Amino acid sequence: MSIEKLEEQKNEMLEELEGIQEVCDTLPECELDDGCKTCKTKSKVEELEQKIEEVEEKIEKLTQADEED
Ligand SMILES: [Zn+2]
Repeated sequence: MSIEKLEEQKNEMLEELEGIQEVCDTLPECELDDGCKTCKTKSKVEELEQKIEEVEEKIEKLTQADEED
């Protein structure tokens, strides 16, 4: 997979992440202290963050491989 595609994927996920975080901010349960610890939105955010991290790692590896050429 090309770096460009991965960057695209990452940007899409970042946008999705932002949208989810906005929803989380408006949930009544999330206004409570520690409310976010149990909200479903939070686990989605963590899942996405994990995926974004993986894509970033792939991009980094590809970038390094490019520089070695
Ligand atoms: Zn929340």
